[in-house]
Amino acid sequence: MDEAAVVAALAPLTDSDGSPLIGPEDIYGVMAEAGWLCVSLRKEGINSAELLAPIHAELGRAFPNTEVEVRVDRRIYRGGEGFGDGRHVVAVLGGKGGVGKSTVAVNLALTLWALGIPVGLLDGDLNAPDIPHMLGVHPKEEPAERGTTGSGQNRRYGAGRTVVGRGGAWRLSSGPVPPSRRRPLYGRHNLEIMSVGFVAPERRPMALTGRGMVSSMLRSLLFDMAWTADVLLIDAPPGTGDEIQVMARELPLSGAIFVTTPHDLAQMDAERTFTLLREQGIMVMGMVQNMSSLTCPHCDREVDLFGQSSRLADAGVQVLGRIPFDTRLSVNADQGLPLVLGDPTGPISYEFARIGVRVRSWLRERGGIRAEGLSS
Ligand code: ADP
Repeated sequence: MDEAAVVAALAPLTDSDGSPLIGPEDIYGVMAEAGWLCVSLRKEGINSAELLAPIHAELGRAFPNTEVEVRVDRRIYRGGEGFGDGRHVVAVLGGKGGVGKSTVAVNLALTLWALGIPVGLLDGDLNAPDIPHMLGVHPKEEPAERGTTGSGQNRRYGAGRTVVGRGGAWRLSSGPVPPSRRRPLYGRHNLEIMSVGFVAPERRPMALTGRGMVSSMLRSLLFDMAWTADVLLIDAPPGTGDEIQVMARELPLSGAIFVTTPHDLAQMDAERTFTLLREQGIMVMGMVQNMSSLTCPHCDREVDLFGQSSRLADAGVQVLGRIPFDTRLSVNADQGLPLVLGDPTGPISYEFARIGVRVRSWLRERGGIRAEGLSS
């Protein structure tokens, strides 16, 4: 598979005037290995999933039994919603820190797995990676294949950046990484897990700043790892900083879930993130209201911990579920055993199951789920 074969494969695609959509001058690079093909394009105005989908489909037809990846600008498209047919990347967001985003992401990931979906959890909070701690993964060894990605495969893509930390030097590729060279993931409770926390020293700041560095890191965490999961939840940091900007603009998100506490200040911050997503055309599945109430241990009455805001609901965000305040959620997290595993038949696990079923239905309608044969 070379440039000429790719141009020939794409010949059926034409512009409105009948000329070929992709000519040799539009091909920046072609990389291939058995069962995998990556075509990088340099052409303006085609960096959306809708426009890349027909190119991807045409290549898939021309090269059967081949996993196809198309790259243009900073957009990487692997079919379906972007991450592959029947595969989804979903951001779990909260406008504010401390609202329970990581807690919900971990428990929801485990719930989706229990519903039959292979799930991965990507810690997108680059400067405060909590996921390894919450799942009780504290790797003392370096990942098996460090530093092998990116270099020497195609001169056009340059050398890439290197992050140095506890897990050794981590080369961030600046170009495509074929499946045979992708970095292995960590695993716990049947989830695939990846976090910058596996490279960063636990007590020292990672100081990953600047849009370029954040972009390289997040893209590497998503595209250069050997994910096999159908649904990848990204535990995103709060606010509308570089990580969120990169996720919204460069990562193939099928949708987003908000986690908020019910009061107005938290929802006001979430609304800012919501506006950013809407501007980028990213669909929001709904919100999980966390710490929505507390059951008084003395009289069993339900107490509202916060004033109730309707800001996000007014903006059209549906409530996926409500998780009460329960100290076991934090005690269990600190022990690396999330509550849905510690108390799988309790009311909070039941509420997570309701949320999980809603998320599954939403994904079924957006291109289906690979493990379910793509259909509902
Ligand atoms: P975020 O990811 O939004 O910063 P975390 O998930 O880290 O928030 O949660 C912040 C703290 O609140 C953690 O100690 C967590 O265990 C605790 N927590 C989260 N949700 C609840 C809840 N519903 N009840 C009690 N504690 C909670």
